[in-house]
Amino acid sequence: MPELSKGANRIYGEAAFEVLAKAQELERKGKNILHFEIGEPDMETPINIAKVGVQAIYDYKTHYTPSIGILDLRKAVQDEVEKTRGYRPDLKQIVITPGLKPGIFFSMLAVVNPSDEVICPDPGYPTYGSTTLYLGAKQIMIPLLEENEFRMSPDDIKKKITHKTKLIIVNSPQNPTGSVMTQSELDEVAEIAEEHNIFVVSDEIYSKMTYETDHFSPTTRDEAKERTVLLDGFSKYYAMTGWRLGYMVSPVKMAERLKDFLVTSISCTADFTQRAGVEALTGDQSFIPMMMKRFKEKRDRIVKGLNTIPGFKCLSPQGAFYAFPNIKKTDMTSQECADHLLYNAGVAVLPGTAFGPYGEGYIRFSYATTLENIDAAVERIKKSFK
Ligand code: PMP
Repeated sequence: MPELSKGANRIYGEAAFEVLAKAQELERKGKNILHFEIGEPDMETPINIAKVGVQAIYDYKTHYTPSIGILDLRKAVQDEVEKTRGYRPDLKQIVITPGLKPGIFFSMLAVVNPSDEVICPDPGYPTYGSTTLYLGAKQIMIPLLEENEFRMSPDDIKKKITHKTKLIIVNSPQNPTGSVMTQSELDEVAEIAEEHNIFVVSDEIYSKMTYETDHFSPTTRDEAKERTVLLDGFSKYYAMTGWRLGYMVSPVKMAERLKDFLVTSISCTADFTQRAGVEALTGDQSFIPMMMKRFKEKRDRIVKGLNTIPGFKCLSPQGAFYAFPNIKKTDMTSQECADHLLYNAGVAVLPGTAFGPYGEGYIRFSYATTLENIDAAVERIKKSFK
């Protein structure tokens, strides 16, 4: 075979899918596994949304749409951003994408050059690092420290700015730690970006998934008109991971280029999916508080349970549905601990290092599962350490 591109050899995948494959292999051999590895809600898409999507197929909404998305959905996003972030973006700033991930990928392709520096949270979502490497750019890690409740510190960002810094990526509520940044921290990030003329991409996929705190966006400062880019989507809080639907709000000039990335790669997001998205944003919203009430119960249960395991110490996350316990006192590395839990306790989790070097000493539980499974996992883990 001829050689693959250099970029193809730099891009990398996600541990969650690898651990799932390992766990399923064990299940095929008859082992019982409790799953805490995959980051998706354990609930189904609300029926009003599903019905609109299905009806749209019967109504032949099965053709190409404009690459940037259908007008009805872009208008619904415009209202949504005004309601949730306090500014009304121009329609020209709004682009629909098949999931939030393409939003990360294409917005990075649109702003990052080889050898630029990209500031990322560590531990952080692997797509940021993989895309940075693919582009031949350099990832500059900002450690998210337990003593700072895993929030990204603007002071730490400031110290890492050089003339090569092109982009700061923020993610709040955060995967894998569940941390939520404060309004003043996010304003400060936007301020730093303004001062140094740097882009900010804000991954807000968990925006409606906070517990004792509100969600804030760094894009309110410039209303995504100059340098900030808002990414959000339907996957998590409308339980629509498989529908593939998200949106970007960016400066107009950038949105025009993003349109051409979409034209070149995917043409458009499925029409019927977008119709379902209109219903999600404009229809009954009672699903979200109901889901978050359940998630809060699960969070409280898993945090309490994990804190009873010798060698484990777990903060109470403020958002998303991940618990990120410190396991340093087990004297295992993250990888050793995750393997131990999978093979000796039948509990599938991710090592913190799957999210970057500063994830060492931690493991990630996605607690989108039943209370019974949470209790059973805690018991199995305790037993495995005896
Ligand atoms: N960003 C973060 C931080 C995520 O955790 C995820 C899902 N695991 C995504 C983006 C991907 O979202 P989507 O499925 O809509 O592409």
